[in-house]
Amino acid sequence: MKIVVLTGAGISAESGVATFRDADGLWENHRIDDVATPEGFAADPELVQRFYDARRAALATVAPNPAHVALADLEKVLGEDLLLVTQNIDDLHERGGSRRVLHMHGQLLSALCVDCHRRSPWVGPLLGTAECPHCGYGVLRPDVVWFGEMPYFMDEIFEALTTCDLFVSIGTSGAVYPAAGFVQQARAFGARTLELNLEPSDGTHFFHEARHGRAGELVPAWVDELVHA
Ligand code: NAD
Ligand code: ZN
Repeated sequence: MKIVVLTGAGISAESGVATFRDADGLWENHRIDDVATPEGFAADPELVQRFYDARRAALATVAPNPAHVALADLEKVLGEDLLLVTQNIDDLHERGGSRRVLHMHGQLLSALCVDCHRRSPWVGPLLGTAECPHCGYGVLRPDVVWFGEMPYFMDEIFEALTTCDLFVSIGTSGAVYPAAGFVQQARAFGARTLELNLEPSDGTHFFHEARHGRAGELVPAWVDELVHA
């Protein structure tokens, strides 16, 4: 059975990483437009670098929770039949043991050169750092996909959505496109669809089945059910 799992900020909530739809559209007390758009970066690059530098530093204070670990266990069983797509920019899936993860919205632990467009693994702050290690002169920005920018791996994701048997959406509000449309895409191509979220998402009615509760409980229970079916 081929499965595509899409995760959002809700899967990392129990690890202590703040989601953003839950706090009146603010992300760690900042307006989304200020810290998650190219216009925000152009207007105040220092604020934006500081914001992501703080998110990157905060990764050291959090750990994967049972939901991340359960998905890594599922990968051990399914191998290439599981595609894990995440909207999260944290590294908790990898630290939970997942090896095949597509970060469609980029990653905190990566820097992108605005000039040569190459990426460099990045662990420290970006504010005040030197030039791009590749070209030697370009400015580095967080390798994060902002509103108005094209998400990564879209061809690969659409291919998987159209050929999977099951699509599962975990901890995502269903408010951010194109990810919010994956359920309809998968369903149109014949997949069964399941939502696991704290509360009904904006697109909950598109799913064949929805279970509501904490990811740390719902995800291990679902994986267990699948593996022992
Ligand atoms: P979102 O913040 O819009 O929605 C989170 C969803 O998770 C909500 O529907 C909420 O009800 C649910 N939720 C909260 N706690 C939960 C729990 N314990 N168990 C299960 N569900 C829970 O997040 P989104 O849909 O991923 O979209 C927001 C965008 O923000 C993403 O593109 C992402 O790049 C970015 N973001 C990422 C992180 C991260 O990397 N961890 C954190 C915040 C925002
Ligand atoms: Zn460069």
